[in-house]
Amino acid sequence: MTESRRRTSIASTHAAAQVFRAVLTTGPLRRSDLTWRTGLSQPTIAKLTRSLIDAGYLMELASGNAGAERPSGRAPIGRPATPLDVRADREFFVGVKVTAGELIGVVTDLRAQIRATRHATLTGHEPRDVVAAIRRLVGRLRGTSPEIRARTLDLGVSIAGDVDREKGVARYEPFHGWHDVPLAALLHRATGLDTVVDNDIRALTEAENWFGAGAQAESFVLVAIGSGVTCGLVVDGKVRAGAFGVAGELGHVTVDRQGPKCYCGARGCLEAVASEPAIVRRVAELTGDPTVTLLRAVDLARRGDPEIRQVFTDAGRAIGVAVGGVVNLVGPELIVISADHQMGFDLLEGHLRAAIAEHTYGTAARAEVFVRRLPFEEWARGAATVAIARRVTVVGGPLGG
Ligand SMILES: [Zn+2]
Repeated sequence: MTESRRRTSIASTHAAAQVFRAVLTTGPLRRSDLTWRTGLSQPTIAKLTRSLIDAGYLMELASGNAGAERPSGRAPIGRPATPLDVRADREFFVGVKVTAGELIGVVTDLRAQIRATRHATLTGHEPRDVVAAIRRLVGRLRGTSPEIRARTLDLGVSIAGDVDREKGVARYEPFHGWHDVPLAALLHRATGLDTVVDNDIRALTEAENWFGAGAQAESFVLVAIGSGVTCGLVVDGKVRAGAFGVAGELGHVTVDRQGPKCYCGARGCLEAVASEPAIVRRVAELTGDPTVTLLRAVDLARRGDPEIRQVFTDAGRAIGVAVGGVVNLVGPELIVISADHQMGFDLLEGHLRAAIAEHTYGTAARAEVFVRRLPFEEWARGAATVAIARRVTVVGGPLGG
């Protein structure tokens, strides 16, 4: 059905994928490190690493100074202690985040390190307009160097809304009003690249899972605050989408049954109280100025206007109460909070942290809260990470090897 033909994985077996992922996310590693990390035998590790070196994905470093410790503290007999690392520029990946009016694009290497960034304005909202704009953006990104042009074969695209990643279908995209658009197939035809499409917060969470907080925590929650409020859930090392692909829709959890009406049709959703547009709407009501902007609202609050400060306090508390509920249900080790820079996050943060602390139960409160400002390019990097993850993961049963 879908025309986004799936290339085979970098790894030929689950064991090879496990080895490659370990070096990719925590390397450089010695072969002996890989033995205790994966539980595979020394001869198996030797064979798998040899074939990944021959294919150009792993390389032996000159010095014996690997980053990770070994529990035994000794090198296995007859095996070189030379650390292995990933050849990150063996392949490149294009990641594109689709917003209401703009495309944000990056090229990354295999480690999701950004090599180039380009933005493009969207003028049309039909799928064919956006597909054509993505095709042009991909061309510009691939044109940044001959090696990127030659070694980019995969495209990851992230969109808002409800996405069937397996089928590559945008089931519902709210910014452009799409229903059941076979986006991966259209983009594969337009760009010639193997294409994967995912929900934007899940893609951002995937990047965090592979190359960020996931290195320290098997279970964590990523909360993104900006034009909406949403969260990504990682449980036992996997990004969770739920049965219908909407797990993590924190923005539509009811926080105030008497609160303002939400665009989803319900009343008092978190997003109707605490998102940027909700804050601006409330400040416009209080000041009687319908042209007020978020920057102006932040400025008024910083100057000490008590009513405007209260809007930010209420938003921070509402997010904190909702996140406390997620922490009680999921029990994550870590809560990563990502806020848009403009947001005046300093006005919210204390109230948000206090509300999380008040509303978490028992030992769930041990979850560490940590705040990170993520520039918009990070959303595109998330889309690239979904493409990287697909290249590294072996789908289906072991393929032999
Ligand atoms: Zn809602």
